[in-house]
Amino acid sequence: MGRVYLTGAGPGDIELLTVKALRVIQKADVIIYDRLANREILDEAKSGCEFIYVGKEDSHHTLPQEKINEILYKSALDNNIVVRLKGGDPFVFGRGGEEGIYLRERGIEFEFIPGITSAIAVPEYAGIPVTHRGVSVSFRVVTGHESRDKSKSQIAWENFRSDDTIVFLMGFHRLEFISKKLISLGKPKSYPIAVISRGTTKDEKVVVGTLENIYEKAKDLPTPALIVVGRVVLLREKLKWFK
Ligand code: SAH
Repeated sequence: MGRVYLTGAGPGDIELLTVKALRVIQKADVIIYDRLANREILDEAKSGCEFIYVGKEDSHHTLPQEKINEILYKSALDNNIVVRLKGGDPFVFGRGGEEGIYLRERGIEFEFIPGITSAIAVPEYAGIPVTHRGVSVSFRVVTGHESRDKSKSQIAWENFRSDDTIVFLMGFHRLEFISKKLISLGKPKSYPIAVISRGTTKDEKVVVGTLENIYEKAKDLPTPALIVVGRVVLLREKLKWFK
């Protein structure tokens, strides 16, 4: 029986892959990857390595998780080194925990290899620090992709009133809702917000605006995209560096 490496691929820029991830990719017998993992990474695999793609073009319509779990399990029965490659970090909205539990229940050994998460690195490439002395003392990473039925929302919206940074992943499709919601909670209409599309790659696009105008300014950006809310967004003026 093989071992499964639940591996973070980093946010896009291939150089943000960890040394540990690269080493295991070079040894892998099979690599199971999804849409957000940079495909160039696959060029690092040895010849004869099998590749299994488990994402569709729209990140919200990946293969059912149960199916992916099954592929991981079966691959581990037939191979020595199985790499499950995920965008960013496996534990940040990556379902790495679910895959680990599934494998443990079936007696398959696994390791986690952390990755650089888009939640921090994508703003960083855009010159937006998630914390900054005197501006923001904490940051939160929140999913924007959850039930539209408000009674079922698990997001603690009422806690979003301070100047702490909020990073929304999977929230781009709800940009209008999110910005209106934050205004309704008492944030000024002029409050800073940025949308960053395809961060850390040569296709990066950054749009900075206010809660009031961001939807109109950013709605046509390509995905993947994340949203950063907070006064730290204004630091981009001084910290912009990536071209
Ligand atoms: N595990 C991943 C996040 C998975 S959720 C991580 O740690 O980065 C997927 C969401 O991440 C996307 O909907 C988008 O909001 C964000 N994302 C991932 N890569 C991105 C990129 N290069 N640029 C902008 N947003 C990105």
